[in-house]
Amino acid sequence: MSLPADKEVSFRESVNLSFDMAMGTLDIPEGISKYIRNVNNVYQVRFPVKIKGEIETFIGWRAVHSDHRLPAKGGIRFAPNVNQDEVEALAALMSYKCALVDVPFGGSKGGLLIDPKKYERDEMESITRRFAYELIQKDYISSSTNVPAPDMGTGQREMAWIVSTYASHRPGDINHLACVTGKPVSMGGIQGRVEATGRGVVFGLREFFRHPEDVKNAKLEGNSLEDKTVIIQGLGNVGYYTASILQDEDRAKIIAILEWDGGLYDPNGIDIQDVYQYKIGNKGGVKGYTKAQYFEDGKVLLEKECDILIPAAMEAVINRTNAANIQAKVIAEAANGPVTFAAESLLKEKGTVIIPDVYLNAGGVTVSYFEWIKNLSHIRFGRMQRRYEESQSELIIKAIEQTGNKLPQELIEKLSQGASELDLVRSGLDDTMRKAFQEISERFWSNDKITNYRTAAMALAIEKIYTGYRTMGIYP
Ligand code: NAD
Repeated sequence: MSLPADKEVSFRESVNLSFDMAMGTLDIPEGISKYIRNVNNVYQVRFPVKIKGEIETFIGWRAVHSDHRLPAKGGIRFAPNVNQDEVEALAALMSYKCALVDVPFGGSKGGLLIDPKKYERDEMESITRRFAYELIQKDYISSSTNVPAPDMGTGQREMAWIVSTYASHRPGDINHLACVTGKPVSMGGIQGRVEATGRGVVFGLREFFRHPEDVKNAKLEGNSLEDKTVIIQGLGNVGYYTASILQDEDRAKIIAILEWDGGLYDPNGIDIQDVYQYKIGNKGGVKGYTKAQYFEDGKVLLEKECDILIPAAMEAVINRTNAANIQAKVIAEAANGPVTFAAESLLKEKGTVIIPDVYLNAGGVTVSYFEWIKNLSHIRFGRMQRRYEESQSELIIKAIEQTGNKLPQELIEKLSQGASELDLVRSGLDDTMRKAFQEISERFWSNDKITNYRTAAMALAIEKIYTGYRTMGIYP
């Protein structure tokens, strides 16, 4: 199947076309594939909220793409342009994402049509609580059926309001904390969730660089991210953590940052923490930052030469209009759907390698899964074993020293530390991202019909969902 480069299609059609391409490499009966491809149900809600003495009506959606595993899982997005097509596309992506990284959830997504910048904090609280109430009433939020999480325009604050609304409407539910993930740690959240998607992006990139044949295929060199030039779009939750971990831990060079009000460029590297602090005090924008060259039309920076381009803001930013000008060797899709289907075709011809969203931003849902388990088990990870591990390590150190060997103090300190919740979360996330890329790479290189990582990742995901439905007895 060839990719159409002559016209853009909607986000949902784009996800479906990726599905079809992957299906072309699989031996799965058509009936079940049609069933897997489509969204199972969508709830659209309109509700009123009194804002500054006037009634305003809001519209929102929650889509469930698949429920071969329960609960269905996926973020809630607050954005001024969100629509049903987008929510359905994102719900489908969630199904494939969860399946790919072996997170046992179905796929779902929610959206509220709103520009959060226009409302005060208290108004946002009333709107979020009312939206949550509407979803709870229809069973679109609960620990066993549907568990939201943060996405664009939402974060810990909104998740805390949702769990509190849920608890007041379902007072007998002992598992109420598990009705939503991405909560503040003080409200049942888990260490490492805020950074999870960005850290997952970095773990995915690190794994990519452990595979010499994949690195060579992207016309890159080396086995690490050190000194690789990076352009990042969106310094929000995903973009900020991705960029700061890349800079601080991997010594990559961030040469451009794009935000809603323009872009910054410095081929010698930009200090992420400095820009981030500036952005916080500048209505979330970068305009006026003086330590790098400012571009009013930030989008032109997507086309600058770099090793890795990381779109971490929104959909369709790389499309037919700019795909031919992209100079990055690798596009790492931290955002959902940043490269349109038409653009992918043009990029393929140029040899640009795309590490797809369905894999690369799965860190968020992976750590959400850990948070959900923590909430259901009602115990912090590491609580039972941390001190035990430490005493065992001390015994081993003592035994080594009794043989007359002296260990360096630095090593003793590292060895004698039991794993904290954050250590365990990061370790589980790293393992998940590594394993998934290994599977994708293996499928990519071993199947002649597969020419990009997206198709490889989608094929693996569809196979796993198919197995899920078949085991449930829906097919045959
Ligand atoms: P966010 O709202 O925290 O950040 C988005 C950033 O993009 C903000 O800094 C915003 O100012 C910036 N932005 C807005 N318009 C822009 C423009 N025109 N040009 C450049 N930048 C612009 O959202 P997020 O949670 O970081 O999500 C970003 C993307 O990652 C979305 O596609 C989302 O679906 C995806 N994602 C998020 C998570 C998560 O855990 N938050 C998980 C998986 C995927």
